[in-house]
Amino acid sequence: MRGYFAAQALLPQGWAEDVRIEVGPEGNIVQVEPGAAPDELERLPGIVLPGMGDVHCHAFQRALAGLAERLGSDEASFWSWRQTMYAFLARLGPDDVAAIAAQLYMELLKGGYTAVGEFHYLHHAPDGTPYDDPATMALALHEAASEVGIGLTLLPALYMTGGFGDQSLDDAQRRFRLDPDQLFRLLERLDRVFRDDPARRLGFAPHSLRAVPPAALREAVLEAARRDVAGPIHIHLAEQVREVRECLEQTGRRPLERLMELAELGAQWCIVHGTHLDEDELERLAASGAVVGLCPTTEANLGDGVFPLAAFLDHGGRFAIGSDSNVATSVSEELRLLEYGQRLTLLRRCVGASRAEPHCGALLWRRALAGAALALGRPVGRIAPGFRADLVALEEREPSLVAKRGDQILDALVFAPAGGPVPDVMVGGVWRIRHGRHAAEARISEAYRATLRRLLA
Ligand SMILES: [Zn+2]
Repeated sequence: MRGYFAAQALLPQGWAEDVRIEVGPEGNIVQVEPGAAPDELERLPGIVLPGMGDVHCHAFQRALAGLAERLGSDEASFWSWRQTMYAFLARLGPDDVAAIAAQLYMELLKGGYTAVGEFHYLHHAPDGTPYDDPATMALALHEAASEVGIGLTLLPALYMTGGFGDQSLDDAQRRFRLDPDQLFRLLERLDRVFRDDPARRLGFAPHSLRAVPPAALREAVLEAARRDVAGPIHIHLAEQVREVRECLEQTGRRPLERLMELAELGAQWCIVHGTHLDEDELERLAASGAVVGLCPTTEANLGDGVFPLAAFLDHGGRFAIGSDSNVATSVSEELRLLEYGQRLTLLRRCVGASRAEPHCGALLWRRALAGAALALGRPVGRIAPGFRADLVALEEREPSLVAKRGDQILDALVFAPAGGPVPDVMVGGVWRIRHGRHAAEARISEAYRATLRRLLA
């Protein structure tokens, strides 16, 4: 058992001072005591928060960040970006993915995330042939997460069609092909590796309504319920206007309506983006208890649109945040853009706040913590007994944090300039970032640089 002392800590019941946090040998918090004496405890830098969960990530896309910002001959859109992404990933093998993911996961820790939901669809070799071990790519991601020490919920994606109406996959998409039989074989294989590891969780992801035929989606969800290998279920939904239009044309239903015909939604579901859901869909989504996974910097980068957060919160909806294409890797940046998108659209301030919880940054931060724990299917996001000792420790003397108390701290983290990476990050009771550095940083970054030089040569 190890004991830590924090001058200020964000607990489930609110901010507390002089907090003693006891961590057991398995990396779980076993006791939390406010108003304690520091005694022989290890003193944390000052302000301690639960680590944030990143609910939506495609790790390999980190290497593409900055490479898709040039206007080509056609109008630049999500769909033209997707072609650039396909061309880039044609060169990626499992070692490349492991090196890119390790660099990214380290950056996520420094950005305040301690767990990631990897929405994994890059299953096969570049020509579409499965690797000898079909879990090769999934295990590359697992190994990167292990090297860095971030919590991982791995969500292998079903991917069967190139568009609504059973369109065939194009050449680039053959690497993604996975049907329900293959999915459950892969989950069984991964379960043998993940089973006893408290930093791992398995779920699965029907990629989208356009990539998974209705019968397969229904079958996979029912089969997952019959087995105990599958946890959270994530799906991309209503990210693009064109996707909503095609869904309407092909099915006569809007995307959420259509999904709800195929599966019963609940708290284990994460609806990724949901940018173009209408008022009725927002209400139904909120009532289902599902979490919406918002990725504001990626949604901005891709020109997706702005999620109607104010209306969704009015309906009592749950949300979490994701780094998605990894054009940004910081909790603060995602929450800031989430709120600023609302302000710019609605022409008012503090849109995320409520009368009961008037601090805007604090409300967004707390809701994202709670939503991520659900969407990742792991006991994270709370400094409380039984939860993982995933802690982010901040310096009180950081210019934007100096003399702040309680919820002012979270407001400052979202809306004031960041002084640099999060200095100290613990995952499962183990320090992974100390004074802004990872112990394996030199090796991880050199492997990443070597990979990028080769890929871009
Ligand atoms: Zn995505």
